[in-house]
Amino acid sequence: MAEVLFEPVAPVTVPIARGGLFAVRRIYCVGRNYEEHIKELGNDVREPPFFFAKPADTVLVGGAAMPYPPQTADLHHEIELVVAIGKDGSDIPREAALDHVYGYAAGLDMTRRDLQAIAKKASRPWEMAKAFDHSAPIGAIEPASQIGHPAKGKITLAVNGTVRQSGDLAEQIWSVPEAISYLSQFVTLRAGDLLMTGTPAGVSAVLRGDVLEGAIEGVGTVRTQVI
Ligand code: MN
Repeated sequence: MAEVLFEPVAPVTVPIARGGLFAVRRIYCVGRNYEEHIKELGNDVREPPFFFAKPADTVLVGGAAMPYPPQTADLHHEIELVVAIGKDGSDIPREAALDHVYGYAAGLDMTRRDLQAIAKKASRPWEMAKAFDHSAPIGAIEPASQIGHPAKGKITLAVNGTVRQSGDLAEQIWSVPEAISYLSQFVTLRAGDLLMTGTPAGVSAVLRGDVLEGAIEGVGTVRTQVI
């Protein structure tokens, strides 16, 4: 047996609302899934969905504070419905996609918008804009066995008590089953994967001290303070 260097890193977990922990494998994110948000960033609503990823250890749970990240002056919030995958699969048909869902949570796809703008302009990857430390605050996961599969419901994000983002899950261009089916054509989804499903309009910059409170009707909440 070859010696393994360094202490293995403990698995990243997200609390399950009714007890237990969900061990996170990968985090996938859907880009541009609400028409009004696509328009506010000046993009084309007719484009097919695309995906990017964050490392599992970007997750921030339990309402923990989020340190303001380095190398940005334009940190944005993106409130998103997070799908927790509970069953492996590839080439998953749309009709079977919800069988692969363990549950749902409210999450934040925090974004260094200035670095994203530079990356877009130069046709460079988005990792430094999206996949930085603490960039994925997430609330408790509610099992689908308890709450069902929400296809509509208000999704909001307030900063210091003022609502900045407001939409409805029904406005998603690509539904959860469609997003799972499409993504599974490119990668094998595994139990433990999370899928952030895009953000409604109203993204804006936050500053140190700001308290972010997201809520998704029928799903749950996510909270963090930027410090
Ligand atoms: Mn996003």
